[in-house]
Amino acid sequence: MEHLKEWKEKISQPFWGLSEEDALKALVSSRDGLIEEEATKRAQIFGRNEISERMRFTKIKILLSQFESPLILILLIAAFISAYLQDWIDMFVIFAAVTINTGLGFYQENKAEEVLRILKSYVRVRARVRRNGREREIDATELVPGDIIRVSQGDRVPADGRIILSNNLMADEAILTGEALPVHKSAPSVAENSLLGDRSSMVFGGTLIVDGFADIAITAIGEFTEFGKIAALIGSKREGRTPLQRALSRFAFRVGALLVALVIIMFWFGLQTGYNLLEMFLISVAVAVSAVPEGLPIALTVILAVGVERLGKKRGIVRKLLAAETLGSTDVILTDKTGTLTQAKMELADVVLFNKESKENLLRDALMNTDVFIENPDDSVPSWKVRGKPLEVALVQGAAAQGVLLNDAKQRAAIVDFLPFNSARKFSASILKQGAHKKILILGAPEIVVQFCDVEQKEREHILKEISRLAFGGGRLVGIASRFLQDGHDKIIVPDSAKQPPAQFSGNSFHGIFVFRDPLRSGVKDAIARIGNAGVRTIMVTGDHVGTALSVARELNIAQSENEVMNGEEMSRIPLVQLKGALERVKVFARVTPEQKLLLTNLYRERGAIVAVTGDGINDAPALSRADIGVALGSGTDVTKNQADLVLLDDNFETLVSAIEEGRTILDNIRKVIVYLLSDSLDELLLIGGSLIAGLALPLNAIQILFVNFFSDSFPALAFAFERGVDGFSDAPRKPDKNLFDKKVRFLILGIGVFTSSFLFALYYALLQLNYDSLIVRTFIFASFSSYTLFLALSLRSLEKSIFSYNIFENRYLIYGIGFGLLLTLAAVYAPWLQNILGTVSLPPFWLLGVLLIGIFNIALVEFSKWLFRKNIL
Ligand code: ADP
Ligand code: MG
Repeated sequence: MEHLKEWKEKISQPFWGLSEEDALKALVSSRDGLIEEEATKRAQIFGRNEISERMRFTKIKILLSQFESPLILILLIAAFISAYLQDWIDMFVIFAAVTINTGLGFYQENKAEEVLRILKSYVRVRARVRRNGREREIDATELVPGDIIRVSQGDRVPADGRIILSNNLMADEAILTGEALPVHKSAPSVAENSLLGDRSSMVFGGTLIVDGFADIAITAIGEFTEFGKIAALIGSKREGRTPLQRALSRFAFRVGALLVALVIIMFWFGLQTGYNLLEMFLISVAVAVSAVPEGLPIALTVILAVGVERLGKKRGIVRKLLAAETLGSTDVILTDKTGTLTQAKMELADVVLFNKESKENLLRDALMNTDVFIENPDDSVPSWKVRGKPLEVALVQGAAAQGVLLNDAKQRAAIVDFLPFNSARKFSASILKQGAHKKILILGAPEIVVQFCDVEQKEREHILKEISRLAFGGGRLVGIASRFLQDGHDKIIVPDSAKQPPAQFSGNSFHGIFVFRDPLRSGVKDAIARIGNAGVRTIMVTGDHVGTALSVARELNIAQSENEVMNGEEMSRIPLVQLKGALERVKVFARVTPEQKLLLTNLYRERGAIVAVTGDGINDAPALSRADIGVALGSGTDVTKNQADLVLLDDNFETLVSAIEEGRTILDNIRKVIVYLLSDSLDELLLIGGSLIAGLALPLNAIQILFVNFFSDSFPALAFAFERGVDGFSDAPRKPDKNLFDKKVRFLILGIGVFTSSFLFALYYALLQLNYDSLIVRTFIFASFSSYTLFLALSLRSLEKSIFSYNIFENRYLIYGIGFGLLLTLAAVYAPWLQNILGTVSLPPFWLLGVLLIGIFNIALVEFSKWLFRKNIL
């Protein structure tokens, strides 16, 4: 490890003050990068390029947080009072209840935490590194100091580095410096005493490249980076709570306050009617602890975590738990076309020529405007590993198939300046030097490229007609234009759409159109139909030509007629009201810019829709962050993934649909747990309160109440998290529910709570009046009370469908939970030592039948309510 000490010194130099060459020397590296063996050696010294999270600490924190609940504290006080009075049985039961409660809470929260951590590791950052003099793509965690990497627009910088070459580099360093505006970065060194924000010759891990590109020499990785140092100071931060969680906590608090008030009244009333203080205290604590739905927010977290984990297996990564619940309410999807609906495995199908320029020359020129690299250029063309934007990769491969090789092309001419493609401009441009000649080359959406050309009106019409014909045939089109430049043109002047184009961008010749084919993904058509049935609209928003877009939309059944398509140009021309009016009709928006995507997101949201928006490029980030659900493609830029709520690892639209389906299951499960837990709470309170008011002996004692809530009833609640949802997605077309506490949920809670407790109460009263043995009667009430909720769980598997329409044994966890609960109840009634603790007596078998009947009666009650809702009677 002596090495590490030496190396630490080497990398703690003020690289920003050194010249590029000195920096490279200090890092014992060169512009060609490290050799592989050296990189391996350094990896052994420095470890992986990652910032480890401090795990053990969070576990303890989660455990301690279980004791933050005031109710648990009250329980503990009650346990101590019991101990003081040497009432060992009560003390034991109360402690057991506390243990179970904290144990379950810990298990649930820890599970949620673990899922989130695993999810984070799914989204891997790749880096384009130069080793052995050649470019490759590796996992960013494998980078070492001295590595040379290329970072470009949309990347999250994987480690600190000294810039050794740059092209219009802009970085967003807000995460480090708090500076909101992107800063310009370039290679020249700066003063050694510059502050972090002024070290313009460096880029830092964790910051974002918002424009341009650069080659950098890595100076520090992992915990040695500036970001790593801050992270080490702050420690790991736990995921914030989601709005739904907060709303539920608030709700639980309010309900809790109300219940506690009622319990206090009950307590007072009990004392008035002659109960002794301690007995009443214990009963009140037991009722309060079990009636207050403090388990609700936690149950919610687990439901979310389990759902999110399931989704992860389907290659959809939810980055924030919040997203999972919103997903289920999505009703409009604004989706990309390329890569999401199609495979983005483009193929160069044709080159259409418009003048004497040869196909080979056009291909060779076009290659100059690509930003791709081949990992194994010496292998045969079909086995090439080409990395870059899909369309450019397709161009490189298509050209190679015609004998035009990327590396040859790049040797023939020098690139003086380069403006990479982006989806706002929709073209790329470069200034090339070939021998004595200098020329500008423009590659992009053909009807935009043709605007930069000097062609006669008739010729222009001919070109536009061809473009339209090719596009409606389903082709993805790229036009190419160029012209020779006089000396003095060394920089590309980016045209501003509001002004006359600069001289470079006029008078070009239009040479030809490359036609690409992009096959559809196979399952997408079904997925769109399925989700359409469930009330979710799919709208295509693409940068492609109207014709290309419509031809894909037709095949996928998104749209049929040209009436359902709108062009970006029309969008910007018509008044806003008219655009709003068109939202109902239009299914495809073509040739849109990222700003227009943002506008559409806003307009749909204004109409009250819950909008999911997909995107890959850095320009999509604003729309994604505005959307209710921002969906980034796995192949997209790091910046977009950073903004996203959901990442589709495989880019696939089907994964998005699965995610929405999963989201609905999550919402449904949350509602089931709410009904289950709250109806139970209400029940207890009414039963005990009612008995007090009626002046009857209490049907349940404190120990029994704790037993029911912490032992027999708590397991089914957990099992709802694993409920896969019997409310099928496509067979029950229904609008997504935005409000968790809708009429049905409220009705079920109140209905079940009030009805069952009155029924039990009436039964209790009647049996006592009929002079049955009071111990048997109370044991009977206890057994019924303990088991009817268990039966209820079966009915609550669906809040929509009849219990007869699904297999009640399907959710294994629920069956285990219920079975376990029933066994516990039986034990409580028949096992002598439990009889001792709980004060129960063995029930004659006939009474047991009564217990079963009460369970069935309750199922009937819920089923009847569901039926009323199905028939729209309620
Ligand atoms: P989308 O992703 O919605 O299909 P893009 O914004 O990627 O749309 O592309 C819009 C248009 O820009 C394409 O129809 C094509 O004509 C052109 N284009 C796309 N990618 C490139 C590229 N890498 N270089 C040049 N032109 C491109
Ligand atoms: Mg694209």
